[in-house]
Amino acid sequence: MLICSNFEGADMKPKRINKRFTFVIIPDANSSVRRFEVPKLIPYLAAGGLCGLIALTLTLSVLHSQASRTASQLQSRVVNQDAMYTTTVQQKDETIEQLQNELIQLSKQTSEMKTKIDDIRKLEDEVRTLTGSNKTAALAESASGTPAMGGSSHPVTQDEVKDTLEQTKSLLSGMDKEVSELKNSIASSKETAMVARQKLRVTPSIWPVDSRTLTSGFGLRQDPFTFRPSFHSGYDISAPFNSKVYATADGIVQSTGSDANHGNNIVLSHADGLRTWYMHLNKINVEKGDEVQKGQVIGYVGSTGRSTGNHLHYEVLKNGVSVDPKPYLSYAP
Ligand SMILES: [Zn+2]
Repeated sequence: MLICSNFEGADMKPKRINKRFTFVIIPDANSSVRRFEVPKLIPYLAAGGLCGLIALTLTLSVLHSQASRTASQLQSRVVNQDAMYTTTVQQKDETIEQLQNELIQLSKQTSEMKTKIDDIRKLEDEVRTLTGSNKTAALAESASGTPAMGGSSHPVTQDEVKDTLEQTKSLLSGMDKEVSELKNSIASSKETAMVARQKLRVTPSIWPVDSRTLTSGFGLRQDPFTFRPSFHSGYDISAPFNSKVYATADGIVQSTGSDANHGNNIVLSHADGLRTWYMHLNKINVEKGDEVQKGQVIGYVGSTGRSTGNHLHYEVLKNGVSVDPKPYLSYAP
């Protein structure tokens, strides 16, 4: 047993303050009591030291805890940033791959567009040939059909991407120029075609009746009435009574009339000094001065005048002279 006491001293002198602590140790009833004294300052110092030690321990513990927390946070941030970086790199890789695929697709479309432009140019060339204004050289044959595919595969290299990009840019640049040229060329062809179309409209170039039964051609023949040689100045086309008679070109009705030779007849005036004459009609459908269009019904087949039966005498005159109608039945300017 330990007893600590702050005795004022054995002599119990009141004026003197005892600056010591006395510790009494009582082991057991048979042993003698032991006592010892320590300066009063020692327990205080011990208590202070203990408190300081506890405070230091607590401080270190707090600091350690904070450091651990900070390290954990840093580690977490590093992990997160690493994951973000990995995700970002992956997304960029995907984006690059997608762009490369789009570039390949664009390159393919550009090539297809080039083929189409070549086809259009070829077509335009054919149109020029039809209108008789073909001045361009023959074009190289364009590739057609779906190409066969296969072979080994490898990742696209930067050089391949760069080459494809350059080729596509070059093709697009070339196509831009080609499209401009084609636009001008087609405009020119359109102009030519319009002129040709107009020329075709005003030039006799169709049959004047639906029938194609030619009973007497242009030139010398035996006269059906006198049976003597004579000159026939047009085509006699046999056709049913009242068959439609068409204007063979745009023009103006120069005259309509009826006489013993020509019967009921119409003369149309066209461009380039051309006139067409329709004879032996049963009925006249137009009047002098009328504007008529190619294919318009101007009368009906009959057998009036010097005629042996229902037919149309069709005559073409060039600058007042009768000419063979044959070239004007399917005239192509
Ligand atoms: Zn005749």
